[in-house]
Amino acid sequence: MTDTDTDTQTDTGPAADAGTGILAGEQRMLIDGELRHTGSGALFDVVHPGNEQVIGQATDGTVADMEQAIGAARRAFDTGRWATDVEFRHHCLMQLHAALDRHKERLRRIVVSEVGCPVSVTGSQVEDPIDEVRHWAQYGLDFAYLQDTGVHKAVMGTARRTLQFDPVGVVGAITPWNVPLYLNIAESTPALMAGNTVVLKPAQLTPWSGTELGRIVAEETDIPAGVFNVVCSNANEVGAALSADPRVDMVTFTGSTATGRAILAAAAPTVKKTMMELGGKSAHVVLDDAKLEKCLPMAAMVACVMSGQACIMASRILLPRSRYDEGIDILRAAMEATPVGDPWDPGVMQGPQISETQRQKVLGLVASGIESGARLVTGGGIPENLPVGYFTQPTLLADVDPDSRIAQEEIFGPVLTVIPYDTDDEAVAIANNSIYGLSGEVSSADPDRAFGIARRLRTGNVTVNGRSHFGITSPFGGTKQSGLGRRNGDEGFREYLELKTIGHPG
Ligand code: NAD
Repeated sequence: MTDTDTDTQTDTGPAADAGTGILAGEQRMLIDGELRHTGSGALFDVVHPGNEQVIGQATDGTVADMEQAIGAARRAFDTGRWATDVEFRHHCLMQLHAALDRHKERLRRIVVSEVGCPVSVTGSQVEDPIDEVRHWAQYGLDFAYLQDTGVHKAVMGTARRTLQFDPVGVVGAITPWNVPLYLNIAESTPALMAGNTVVLKPAQLTPWSGTELGRIVAEETDIPAGVFNVVCSNANEVGAALSADPRVDMVTFTGSTATGRAILAAAAPTVKKTMMELGGKSAHVVLDDAKLEKCLPMAAMVACVMSGQACIMASRILLPRSRYDEGIDILRAAMEATPVGDPWDPGVMQGPQISETQRQKVLGLVASGIESGARLVTGGGIPENLPVGYFTQPTLLADVDPDSRIAQEEIFGPVLTVIPYDTDDEAVAIANNSIYGLSGEVSSADPDRAFGIARRLRTGNVTVNGRSHFGITSPFGGTKQSGLGRRNGDEGFREYLELKTIGHPG
C-alpha cells in the first residue's frame, strides 16, 4: 500500500505500521477554526478491530467543548457570508473535494485501521464520499433558491407566489461507525452547500474519520471559522447535548433506532427539524422462478462484505418452500466460501466486527435464534484460525420463525436468516412484518412480477434483480422506524433547506 502523505499522526501519537498499513489519525477536534484538544488533555483509545491493538488516540471532548462548537456555528451562520454566498460555498467545497482526493490513500488507511473493513471494498467508504463532495458543490451552485411559481388564486383576489429556499441554520450531524467517512461527508456536505453551518459528532469507535475531515477543512480550505466543527468524544452525553441545544436548528442522525428515539425526544422541546437514517431488517423475497445460483451467492456476499454491519443489508431471505432445500444449499456454499480474515489482505471479503461488544451481541442473537427453533446451517461462532481480532463466522440460520428475535431485531453481523413461504402474498406479509422499513430486494426470472412485489413492500428502497436503488442521485431513506426524511437526490438536498412562500403583486 502506498501513501503520498506523511505517515506520522498529525499531532502526538503513533506513526504508521508499515507492515499492516495501520495508520493513526488526527487526535484534535475542530472548533471555531482551531484544531485543538479538550482542556483537560484527556484522550481515548482507538482500537484496530483486526488485531485488538490500541493504535492511537483521539481527544475526549466534553459537553463544554460541544457548547463552544455550537456557539461558533451559530455565530458563523448568523453573521458570516456562508449562508448567503453560494459561489463562495462552491469554491470552498471544490477545494475540499480536491484536498480529500489528494489524501485519498491516507483516508483509506485510516478507515481500514479504525473500522476494520476489508481494504478490497473501501470504494464505498472512500472514493464514493469524495465524489459526493463534488456532486453537492455543483448541485448547490445550480439549485434555484428563488422560484417564481406564477399567479395563483388567493384569499382576496390573486397573488404571485415566489418560493424562497433558505438554509435551516445550525445543523448537528451525528454519525455511526460502520461507514464513518462516507456518513460524515454525506451528512455534512449537502448541509454545508445549502448554506448551513455544521457541528459534526462522529462515533466513539471511529473518531478519526471525523477529525481528519476537520483537519483538512482547517488546513486546506477557505471554509471560515465556525462553519464546520468536529467534536469527538467517548461520551454519549456530548451527542445528547448537540441534539438538545436550542441554538441548533436541525439534527441529522444516522445510527440505531434506539438512539434515534432518544435524539427525537431531546430535539422535541425546541421543535428541531430532524433527519433520521436508522436501523433496518430488510427482506429479500426470492420468487419461485428466480435464478437461485445468481441471486443467492450475491445475497451471501452482501451479508459478509461489511461483516454484516450494513443498514441496508437484506438479512431475511424469504425462500419459496418449493425450492427451499436447493436455496439453502447454495447459500451454505456461498457463506462457507467467503474469505474471512485480515482486512489488509486484498483477497479478504469479510473482516472483523467493529468491537468485542458487537461480536458478543451478534453471537448472542444467533444463540437466541437456535433456542427459538432455528436450524444452524453453518457458522455461529468464532473462526478457529482467527483467535485474535473480532472475527465472526459467516452464519446461516434456516427455518426461522418470522416473529422470533432473529427475524425481528437488527443483528448487524454476517448472519442470514432464512424463512420459508408458500405464496407471493405470504412472502409480502412476512417481508412487511417488521418495525423497520429501510430496504428490500426481490428476485425473479420475470422482471414485471418482481417489480409488482417490490411495489408492495413497505420500505423506503427496493432492489429488483440486483439493480441497486442506492446512489447519489436517488432519494434514500427509511419508512416506519427506519427513519425520517431522505438523503441523496433532489429530496436529500432539500432536507437542508427551509421553504418560504412569498405572496406578492405581479
Ligand atoms: P448508535 O445509535 O449507537 O450511535 C450512533 C451515534 O449516536 C454515535 O455517534 C453515538 O455517539 C451517538 N449517540 C449515542 N447516544 C446518543 C444520544 N443519546 N444522543 C445523541 N447521540 C448519541 O449507532 P452505531 O452502533 O454507531 O451504528 C449502527 C447503527 O446505525 C445500526 O442500527 C445501523 O442500521 C444504523 N445505520 C443506519 C444507516 C441508514 O442509512 N439508515 C446507515 C448506517 C448505519
